[in-house]
Formats: sequence, structure tokens, C-alpha cells
Amino acid sequence: MSYLVQGKKGEQRLFMGNEAIARGALEAGISVAAGYPGTPSSEIIENLAKVSKERHLYVEWSVNEKVALEVAAAASFAGLRALCVMKQNGVNVASDFLLHLAGSGTRAGLVLVPCDDPGALSSVNEGESRHFARLVEIPLLEPGNFQEAKEMVRYAFTLSEELRTLVMVRSVTRLSHASGNVTLGELPPTGSKAYFKHDGFILDQMEGAVISSPVEYKHTLQQERVQKAAELFEESPFNTYCGPPDPEVLLITSSACNLYSKEAVRLLQAESRVGILKMGTTWPLPPRFVERHLRMADTILIVEEVLPFLEESVKILAAELAPTIGVKTFYGKRDGTIPATGEMNPDRVVQGLARVLGIDYQPVSESYAQKALESAFFGAPERDLTFCPGCPHRASFWSIHNALQLDHRQGFVCGDIGCYSLAMRPTGYETLKTLHAMGSGTGVASGFGMLREFGLDQPVLAVSGDSTFFHAVMPALANAAHHGANITVVVLDNSGTAMTGFQPHPGLTVDAAGKAVQALDIRRICEAMGVEVRQCDPFDLAATQAALLELISSRQGPNVLILKQLCALSPERKGKRRFNMHIVETICMGENCGCNRLCTRVFKCPGLIWDKVKKVSRIDDVICAGCGVCASICPAGAIQKEAV
Ligand code: SF4
Ligand code: SF4
Repeated sequence: MSYLVQGKKGEQRLFMGNEAIARGALEAGISVAAGYPGTPSSEIIENLAKVSKERHLYVEWSVNEKVALEVAAAASFAGLRALCVMKQNGVNVASDFLLHLAGSGTRAGLVLVPCDDPGALSSVNEGESRHFARLVEIPLLEPGNFQEAKEMVRYAFTLSEELRTLVMVRSVTRLSHASGNVTLGELPPTGSKAYFKHDGFILDQMEGAVISSPVEYKHTLQQERVQKAAELFEESPFNTYCGPPDPEVLLITSSACNLYSKEAVRLLQAESRVGILKMGTTWPLPPRFVERHLRMADTILIVEEVLPFLEESVKILAAELAPTIGVKTFYGKRDGTIPATGEMNPDRVVQGLARVLGIDYQPVSESYAQKALESAFFGAPERDLTFCPGCPHRASFWSIHNALQLDHRQGFVCGDIGCYSLAMRPTGYETLKTLHAMGSGTGVASGFGMLREFGLDQPVLAVSGDSTFFHAVMPALANAAHHGANITVVVLDNSGTAMTGFQPHPGLTVDAAGKAVQALDIRRICEAMGVEVRQCDPFDLAATQAALLELISSRQGPNVLILKQLCALSPERKGKRRFNMHIVETICMGENCGCNRLCTRVFKCPGLIWDKVKKVSRIDDVICAGCGVCASICPAGAIQKEAV
């Protein structure tokens, strides 16, 4: 039995933020959970999938975030509480349906948990999901600690049912992935029944058709719900004040910044000068509650991550309240007191707060700072972000890079989101030349592929992972096929959503709960679009390169090359070598080889190391995964493989 459902009410558990969120959903009595994997959100669905049998849940990894929200919404319409989970980029994907759902309203509790990634620790942007709450006019809650992560999710279901609207509970990386003590609540009985009422009066939200029209009427209801949410938030226990009754500075914050702010005040020993107003209900703001606290001080510092979302909301309110609370001086992101990009931490808050308080604060002595700087430069080994040893993507990009070089027409690859995004970097031979959203590689390539009549004669390639193929590449490929875009789409099929932890996708034979399901065949899908499809093993460099050269020479597009090979970390392949590898020292040419050590300087598998003393390359047996690919790249034949 998973520890997520163990323990009695009142007991404490050490939970990761994402586990606390999952537990909150279980305590709320959800029946359905859907999401698309993406760091830092993935563990929520994974943990719910583990308890799906014993808690009678339907849990799925959906094909993309929009579909995930649609699946969860269906449960709500049928009277079942449902949770939908995604990372920040996913909200963009879901936003089309989200806008309509906010208009149609919901029935049983429906909660969307986006996990944002300030600082883009595992993302290609630090987009903000909070703005979507304001854009589509739904309530937004932001937990400030692990206990709140659980409690807020549970409360969000009650709120959703009270207002009959979707409620957003936004987490961030440091909350989702750090751990803290959480006091358990009760798990309700399972066995809810679904029934979709649809033949009542058209304007009856609980019995009529679920639609967002008549638009003006429904939009008015939507805005009334937001006003009611603001009323309810006046008494919310998630909004707290901690500090003196008449602080010199009122620090207003939310989310993980609450923890950083507390730490900063303590470090500056400014407890008697600064009061912290922690907002848990960040949209809509409860006006009377905020007004009471704005009255406490004339200097306000707003601490939050990424965009000045809270800052703007508070300033609008303060402007409206100016006749009664007077003019305030604000500090935050807009004046540069708090950095406008990147993840926050206690040091960054200390710097901003010290400036506002006029404290000359030196976090560490100059000699310590100098020593730390030197250690960082000279003490830590130099490491580039790289593909794992034995990763099929390294072999794929080796072939793609070489094929484009051999072609001589300045061909290029439109990148996509996945482990293979690393091909932007030297470790992937800097092969990717564009990189945007999921599926955009093929979509952008489709655009380039139509520019022949404007003289574009460069080969155009796109890459896509297998999960990404189902997520967003299929419509882009359909577009390319329909319009005859002259492109080659390389599907890097490593049989899993490897980057986020091997969550299943429609190409696989199991679902999130481990049940056997039908696998969809990428090759047949592409063929059904009338596209020429080839398949190669990327570890066979010669055959892959030959196929690529042939496909990019084709004047009729699009075509697809599926490069199928299991991820080196997949459960089926991990720890299983195909070859034992060694380098014959007497043959190795070392620095005289190719571009000055072709294997360690150019191919860059971490399993290959340079012996500085002997001036030859070596295989690091601990790291080498035994894929055998490097034997094909050594021009001297010094790298040898022996079948295991
Ligand atoms: S092992 Fe081969 S590729 Fe590597 S340095 Fe020696 S000769 Fe060059
Ligand atoms: S066989 Fe070569 S390419 Fe494969 S993991 Fe080992 S060192 Fe790396």
C-alpha cells in the first residue's frame, strides 16, 4: 500500500509538495485525475496512479494538457470531483478549452494544479500560469508551505462546488519538489457514481447542456463568481499576517516566497520593523482584508517570483482605496527592488528588503565571497549538460549533423521539447536551430518547407520525441502533409516520455495505472497521412546517415524517419550492456585523430575519457552503457566492441 494513503487523521507525514497536493485531492474525494507529464508537476499524477486501485480512481496521462483538462471536466460534468495537473507551459496548451470551461462553469469540484518553474530549472521558459486565472476569470490559490499545499487543494474542491467554477491552485518548483511535515486529514469513502444530466433547462448549470452561451449571460455569471470568491476570501485562513501592529515596511508575498521572506526578515533581524502579509488567495484579492493591512504601513514591498502579478493587483486596489488609505510607496519588481526574472531565494529577498530598510547588509565576509568564487571557478569539475551514456539521441544527432554537413546546403533542424532539446548544445553538435513549444519543431519546419518559391533551398528537418508526436506533432505533420511542405521529420522514438520519468503515452501498451491498453503505431499514423516513412536503428550510424541523405534530397515532402531505440535509462535497457568496450591504446591516435580526439572532444559520450598521462582515450567501465556506437565513430578502429 502506498504511504500516501497510510496513516490516520492527525498523524504527521513527511511529504514532498507534490505528494501533499495528491493527498489533498484524495482527502477531497476525487474520482478522476488527468495530466500531461512535465517537471515540476509529474509526481502528482504518478502518486495518484499508484493508489488508483485502492482509492477507486481513474487516473490518466493524457495525450496533451488540453485533452487532460477536457477529461477532468467531463468527470465534473458527470458529478465526480476531478483534478487536472500540468506544468506552466501546459496551461498555454490547455488555454483554449480553459477559456470556454470558465464560461460554461463546472458541476462537481474541478481543480487545475499548474506547477510553475521560476528560473526555468527544467523548462525552456519561466512562463507564468497565474495570469491565466485573471485572463479566464477563475479563482487562484497559492500555497505558501507544504501543509497548505494539501489543505488548499482540499478546500479548492469545496470552493469549486460553491461557485460552480474551475479553481486554480498554483505550485512552484521549490514547493512541488521540496518536502515538509504535513498533518493528515481523513480519507473519505470511495465509490462515487457518475451520471451526466443534460436535458434540463438550457440555463440550468446542473441539469442543462454545458456550454458557454448565451455568452453575455454566462460571462456575467462568471464575473459574479469572481466577486463571490473575493467575498469568501475575506475570511480565508490562507491569508495571514505576521509581525508588529505598526510595521515600518509591510512585505506582501505569496507561494514559496513566503518562506524566503520569513528567512530574509530573520537574517536582517528586522522582525520589529517588517510585517509579512502572506496571501494564499491571490486572485481575486479580498479588498477589505488587503485594505486593513495596507493601512498598517506607508511603505510596501511586494515579493514574488517572475512577473509582478501580485504587485499589480495590490497597486490597482491601493489606487482605488487611495481616498481612504492615502498614498503608499511601493517597492517590488517594477522599480527593480526585486529581480524581474529568475527564481527567488532568501538572498535575493534580503538584498531588496535591506535596500528598502536602508540596512547596509553584507551576507558574507569579502574574503569568504572571494574564496567561494575561486572554488566555483577552479574547484568544481567542468561539465556540460549532456545526453546520458548510451543515449540513442546522441547517435541520432551525430547522424543528422553529419548528413547535413555532407549535404553542403546549410540544412538545419527545427527543435522540439524533450531530452533531445540538449542538441542545442555542443553535446548535440549544436544541431537544433529553433526551439519553442511542444510540437513546434514540425510546425515551424512546415512553414520553412513552404518557402521554396521564395528561394529557400536549404534542407529543412524537424525532430520530435514519441510522446511529443502524440502531444502536438500530429496536427503539424498533417498540415505539412496537406500543403506539401518539403521537410523531413525525424521521430526520435525511445519508447517513453523519458525526460519526465517514463510516463506512458499512446504509443505504449500500458496506461498510467499499469493496465494493458492499445498502442498506436506512429509509422502507420504517418503513412495514413500519405507521408513516406522509413525506420532505422539510430545505433546503426551508416544506415541512418544514408537514409537521412536520401530523404533530405527528396524534392517532395514531407517525409518521416523514425529512429527507434530504447532510452538508455528505460527499465528494459538500464544496466544491460550489448557490448563490452575497450580501446586499443596502440591504435588510438589521441590528439592526432580527426578534430583533435574525435571521441572525447566531439562525440562526447561521458563513457569515453581522456587519459592525460598516456595521451590516449579510455572507456570508463562504470559509466559506459555498452551501446557500441563509439566503435563506429573512431576513424582508426581503436574502439572495439565485443558482444556480451
Ligand atoms: S579512440 Fe579513436 S576517436 Fe578516440 S582519440 Fe583514439 S583514435 Fe580518436
Ligand atoms: S559504448 Fe561508447 S558510446 Fe556507448 S555508452 Fe559506452 S562509451 Fe558511450
